[in-house]
Amino acid sequence: MIPFSIRAIRTETRDTKSFELSFDQPISYLPGQFLSVIRKRGDFETRRQYSFSSHPVLSRFPIITVKRIENGELSRWLFDESKVGDTLFSAGVSGRFILPADIKQIKTILFLAAGSGITPVRSLMQELLNFHRDKRVILVYSNRSAEDTIFINTLQAVAAGFSAANS
Ligand SMILES: Cc1cc2nc3c(=O)[nH]c(=O)nc-3n(C[C@H](O)[C@H](O)[C@H](O)COP(=O)(O)OP(=O)(O)OC[C@H]3O[C@@H](n4cnc5c(N)ncnc54)[C@H](O)[C@@H]3O)c2cc1C
Repeated sequence: MIPFSIRAIRTETRDTKSFELSFDQPISYLPGQFLSVIRKRGDFETRRQYSFSSHPVLSRFPIITVKRIENGELSRWLFDESKVGDTLFSAGVSGRFILPADIKQIKTILFLAAGSGITPVRSLMQELLNFHRDKRVILVYSNRSAEDTIFINTLQAVAAGFSAANS
């Protein structure tokens, strides 16, 4: 088990927060992968998976973005009670929702996301827009309302910047 602490907390929407994490031993991950998070309380452990919303190279620290689920055990604790400095544990990084090893022939990539499903997509989009600039990236992102849309400002700025750059 790998210990880590919460380094910073940012509110994204009324029910979603991002958590910047600090590991003693640096972890490696690919855009699209997730972290298995463990919260220990006495003899009890709660384990859940959270995708990285950060990019492994562009972000200094790994970030997970968690939507509070009504009656949910870990997401509710993270949203309502956790604070900077709290220690959690991880069972490591996994996930196959990553870019194919060879994407030379691919011209357009379409992402379909809804709600907190945007977290791995954000990381993948950062990879494509920054390191594979010949690709066209399309995002279809479904949410209840603009105010419930995680990363709305960043995504709109990115869309405006890249549309302008490519027009
Ligand atoms: C690969 C992967 C990546 C993920 N990435 C993200 C991410 O980036 N961001 C994110 O927010 N989430 C993500 N998730 C979801 C996350 O792992 C958790 O499932 C989510 O946060 C809910 O966990 P919880 O402990 O809060 O809720 P839980 O305690 O697991 O409860 C979930 C729901 O089930 C209900 N429930 C629990 N037990 C029972 C029962 N016995 N009978 C009936 N109902 C019950 C609860 O009331 C609640 O509504 C990801 C999941 C996977 C598998």
